[in-house]
Formats: sequence, C-alpha cells, structure tokens
Amino acid sequence: MGIHTTPACKYESFNALIRINEPELLHQVFLGQLDPGQPTPRVELFERQQGGPWRSLHANGSRHNGVPDRHARYLDRLSRQQEQDWRYDNGSSGWYAVYKPCSHRQYAMFFAPAGAHIDEDYVQLLFSFYCHQFTSIEGVYRDSLTGLYNRRAFDQRMAALIEHSRHPARRSRASQPAVFALLDIDHFKEVNDRYGHVQGDEMLTQLACMMSDSFREYDLLFRYGGEEFALVLMDMDESLSQAALERFRRRVEETEFVNGQRMTVSIGYCRFEPEHGIRGLIERADKALYAGKRGGRNQVRRYPLS
Ligand code: GH3
Ligand code: MG
Ligand code: MG
Repeated sequence: MGIHTTPACKYESFNALIRINEPELLHQVFLGQLDPGQPTPRVELFERQQGGPWRSLHANGSRHNGVPDRHARYLDRLSRQQEQDWRYDNGSSGWYAVYKPCSHRQYAMFFAPAGAHIDEDYVQLLFSFYCHQFTSIEGVYRDSLTGLYNRRAFDQRMAALIEHSRHPARRSRASQPAVFALLDIDHFKEVNDRYGHVQGDEMLTQLACMMSDSFREYDLLFRYGGEEFALVLMDMDESLSQAALERFRRRVEETEFVNGQRMTVSIGYCRFEPEHGIRGLIERADKALYAGKRGGRNQVRRYPLS
C-alpha cells in the first residue's frame, strides 16, 4: 500500500484534475499523478459507450476500434452494468481499473506501475476523478452528432498550437502540426433535399467515423461547421500529407453510405505555418478548397495554388 504519496500531494492531484478543461493536458497530468515520484507507468485507457464495443482511448481524446487481445480477454468479461472494478492480472502483469461515471459510458484502465508498490485506493480514486472530468470536458468540446471535436475545441486548440509553435524553446520534439486542411462535402444540400435531413445526419456521422479510422490517433479532427471539417495533420511532410488526404478522398468516393448512398468530398490544405494565425490558415485552406470546388469537386488541392 501507499508509500510514495503524502495526503497533501493527493489532494492537490484531485484539485489539479478538476481545474483542467483540455483533454490532452488532463491526460498528461493524470499520468503524472498516478504514481508520483516514479518513472511514468505504462497506462492504456479504454472506453465503451452505450451498447458499443470497447475502444482504445488516446491522449488527445480520439478513439480507435480494436483493443489488444490480452486486454480484450479481461475487458470482454465485464458486464456493461459494472460500476467499478479493480484487480491485478498476472497474465498482463498489471492492474485493471473499471469505472462508470454515468449511465452510458464505461471506462477501463490498464496500469503497469514502474515501482513495486502503489497506493491502490489512491489510484482508483484518481482514475474515477479522471473519468468524471474527461466526461464533462467531452460534453463541452465534442460535437454531439459526429463525436468529433467541435468549433469551440477548434478555436482553443488552434490558438494553443499556434502559440506553442511560435516559441521554438517550448516546442516538444514530438508532435508538430504539419498541415492544416478543410474538408467540405460536395453537393450536400442536394443529398438533404433528396433523402431528408435524417439520412443526411447519418451520412455525416458515418463520414466522421471514417475520418477517425483513416487518420492517425494524434492527428486532430474537428467538425468546423455544418458539413465542413478541419484537420491538423501532425509530423508529416507535405507529400505524405497530400497522399493521406488523397487516400481519404478516394475512400469516401468508394464507400457506400447508408442505404447505398454515395458522396464525395473536396479538400483544401496548406502548410501549418503558425505566423499566419488561425484566420490566415483558414483563408489559405479555404482558397485551395474552393479551387477544388470550381475545378469540379471530389479533389484535394493545396495552397499556394499551382
Ligand atoms: P458544395 O459542393 O458547393 O459544397 O455544395 P453544398 O450543397 O454542399 O454546399 P452548401 O454550403 O450550399 O450546403 C451545405 C448544406 O449542408 C446545407 C445544409 O442543408 C447541409 N447541412 C449543414 N449542416 C447539416 C447537418 O448538421 N445535418 C444535415 N443533414 N445537413 C446539414
Ligand atoms: Mg459548406
Ligand atoms: Mg458542401
């Protein structure tokens, strides 16, 4: 049982978590406080919503389908009603914590501490705080239809990215924004007119799922407005970014959406140069996007236009 943390430190951990309203920072602080004074522990987080399957939950709040087999063995045995659980698993050499902060979400954590001893009560309580805070942040920053980050998250996240990249000394070597892109569905008004808004909504949701699946867990995806999405691709050179966007465009073109519907998207992008500011980046990507629209839609274009 606990030997590393004093009560004062524990209370501060909870206070710190409650004040944070940004998923990535919340995640970082949570990891840093799990086993204070020890090297960072190995932690994996999982989530399931309503009747859905378990998904891996990443530091930036994105989810991915597919849970490693060794964790699935434990997670799949849990009932959806289970509100809390805590146990050591010899096979995985680590602890599993489960917590259900509200009726439609269940979170799980795999935790392999670096040291020999942990304070079990503290870790469980910290995890439950993390789940509550994460759930409430999600309510504010997630778009309720598609589950992507919303416009509010976009404004904050972009401002933070720009501020960060303007100060080279504060840059971490990992994860630099490389490309900013805007994606707009082609002729979506017609889709709505022809099939109705309900089906239109379903296609939007399906498209958002495809985006989450197609890009990497540390790329940032936002629902920027009605049928427009913004993307920040991290740590990629421009030709790889172009290829990734092009691959996605083609995937949409080849997909049968609900009831066999088809749709296409146009994408405009520019290099993420912080000195242009949010407005400058949007203007540039927008110019490229509209060049694509004028050029016949269903294409990826870059700024400056060639
Ligand atoms: P373009 O190829 O030029 O982009 O044509 P468009 O019809 O997609 O463009 P426009 O901006 O004129 O229309 C966007 C339409 O998207 C208008 C609106 O009916 C639809 N839309 C926006 N938000 C939503 C939404 O949340 N749900 C549904 N079903 N439709 C939406
Ligand atoms: Mg539009
Ligand atoms: Mg459109």
